[in-house]
Amino acid sequence: NRANKRLLITGGAGFIGSHVVRRFVNRYPSYHIYNVDALTYAGNLENLRDIETAPNYTFLKGNIADESFIRKIFKEYRFDGVVHLAAESHVDRSIADPLVFVRTNILGTVNLLNAAVDLWKADAHNKRFYHISTDEVYGSLGAQGLFSEVSPYRPNSPYSASKASADHFVRAYGETYGLPFVLSNCSNNYGPNQFPEKLIPLLIHNIIERIALPVYGDGDYTRDWLFVEDHAQAIDLIFHEGKNQETYNVGGCNEWKNIDLVKLLCRLMDKRLNRPEHTSEQLITFVKDRPGHDRRYAIDSGKINNELGWKPSVTFEQGLERTIDWYLANGEWLKNVTTGDYQKYYEDMYS
Ligand code: NAD
Repeated sequence: NRANKRLLITGGAGFIGSHVVRRFVNRYPSYHIYNVDALTYAGNLENLRDIETAPNYTFLKGNIADESFIRKIFKEYRFDGVVHLAAESHVDRSIADPLVFVRTNILGTVNLLNAAVDLWKADAHNKRFYHISTDEVYGSLGAQGLFSEVSPYRPNSPYSASKASADHFVRAYGETYGLPFVLSNCSNNYGPNQFPEKLIPLLIHNIIERIALPVYGDGDYTRDWLFVEDHAQAIDLIFHEGKNQETYNVGGCNEWKNIDLVKLLCRLMDKRLNRPEHTSEQLITFVKDRPGHDRRYAIDSGKINNELGWKPSVTFEQGLERTIDWYLANGEWLKNVTTGDYQKYYEDMYS
């Protein structure tokens, strides 16, 4: 039933959230989308300029860890569904300050769950709570194998432990209170609007500026990469077609060692910027490893592929080219987010 839904999307001013908000606002004119975001360093309303005046969109500034704020908006707007993306999302920051991650990712999620259970206790028909989570909850893989929906949870960083905890609470609220939910665990996303603390936009930024390209440890870390719009499409599909009380793993079937990814980006950027071959590769600098660094993540997306017919729509090169083009065309956006606090963060991390 897609008519006249009131949907709460949390974290909609962030990277993935902004792509999800845009998709839902444009594709579902009969829905009203309420975007709740605290606008932390990672939240940026510039990401949503193109849809901010849409008649089916409302932005509400607020913190999901603030119980009275969450109660108030659930009472006032009586949401039919929740697509929950708001989170502290950067592993390195979670190592420096785990409590912020506990507050937002665990307490914030439980606040939302309590409000949803309360609002929907009389009638949970056609209601749905969707938590967007990460493959990092499964810990690290050896050279072989893939994470599936039944892999055991073994989070290794404060970030992944907080997301794993939130996943457990969502499932527990399903069992205990009958809350209709879906969960998805996705691999690394990349694309336009990603904050440049994350690997790909950090490299793009540094290549443009011709400054050192920091690579952790020996660079022999493997990640699976998915273009953000393909993730947004998977989220749309899971929200509408997924089965209640189920988890879906979402991955790009696109594994890269960090060092190979850095070299690929250098090659694409040199070409795009008309620089001689291998110019940017010379900027590669190996830096002290991240503690507890997971060696390899890789996802088996068989379930979402078989049950919901989802697969990524772009190749990695196409996705990277679109991403590079976006950062080059949005120099002002990049400049605004890399001045001020970012400078201090960057110096603390890499100097
Ligand atoms: P992001 O850091 O870019 O955005 C997070 C957003 O949440 C920001 O707009 C921020 O202002 C908001 N936020 C943070 N704390 C808040 C709070 N207490 N109350 C309200 N809003 C708050 O993150 P992202 O990369 O877009 O990730 C979105 C979600 O997807 C997260 O839940 C993350 O765990 C999950 N995820 C991310 C990836 C990835 O590769 N980026 C992969 C899998 C899953």
